[in-house]
Amino acid sequence: MCYAFSRRAFLRRAACPRRAGLRRTSTTTTPASPIRPLARPAAGAGRTLVHVPCNHCGREVTHGVHNVSRLVRCVHCGLVFVSPRPPDELLAAQYDRDYFHCSEPTFGGYEDYEADRAEITRTFRRRMRQLAPFVGAAAPRLLDVGCATGIFLEVARDAGWSGEGLDISEYALARAREKGFAARPGTLADADFSPRSFDVLTLWDVVEHLPDPAGALARAHRLLRPGGTLALSTPDAGSLLARLLGRRWLGFRPIDEHLYFFSRRTLAAMLAAAGFEVRATHAVGKYLTLPRLVERLRFYTRAGAFLLRTADRLVPRLSLYVTSFDTMVVIATRRPD
Ligand SMILES: [Zn+2]
Repeated sequence: MCYAFSRRAFLRRAACPRRAGLRRTSTTTTPASPIRPLARPAAGAGRTLVHVPCNHCGREVTHGVHNVSRLVRCVHCGLVFVSPRPPDELLAAQYDRDYFHCSEPTFGGYEDYEADRAEITRTFRRRMRQLAPFVGAAAPRLLDVGCATGIFLEVARDAGWSGEGLDISEYALARAREKGFAARPGTLADADFSPRSFDVLTLWDVVEHLPDPAGALARAHRLLRPGGTLALSTPDAGSLLARLLGRRWLGFRPIDEHLYFFSRRTLAAMLAAAGFEVRATHAVGKYLTLPRLVERLRFYTRAGAFLLRTADRLVPRLSLYVTSFDTMVVIATRRPD
């Protein structure tokens, strides 16, 4: 989902004519990629991209991944990440209204987030059914990090949970507040919550967007009560599809929107270092209408997209649960200090 910092990307900006872009200003040791170059400079363009060390082990020795520009793998722990990358303030600037209304979402962002709310709600209800058995409290208190327009908060409210949201997108926060939710601006790093004040903390499609995921998970550990539950979803760069397709994997498109590309192993290692015990890992999909499915499928196969587009004319509002087993949900428990 979108962390309005959770959700982000300059390649999307290049693809979506309504969005601003960044111009690369430094060279990288990794070869050129098929990913579309950034289109036009935005505020801050002209700054040099920043080299970053591995966020998990702190080492700086990496090698390239699948010839995708600026995508590297730590030779010590295997974490895959983007380096060099734009400065943090420019990364955060991409989560405006256009992030939720983007014409080319294969580069990141969403076609029309609220228009797809029925499918997003069904997806979140399914995740709630996976998460609820791990939550002990009768009426748990939830913090949804990257709450976007508050759709998961609605699902949680329907389940009898109390909750509030956190996001960096003022556009998304305004929509969430219209639904009656307490939704604060900011990130896990700067949010002013009391330690141990939540039973559940969710990061749906957020952690891959964060400049410092290890720091964010450590912060999540402090905000959860001992025994509290953390649930997150993220693309699985170690999935069969990602390994088979390599640089053609759709998950490698939103470089700079996504800064980290976890496998089950590297995510479990980062969670363990932050004080969490992984309880379950599931491959998950999402509900999509046929037009949205066509948008994604055409990236891989024009013939398949053509067939689906034909079907779409017959049943335009058909909604399908689609999974290619390359997105994972991880549920973890906070260990004591
Ligand atoms: Zn490392």
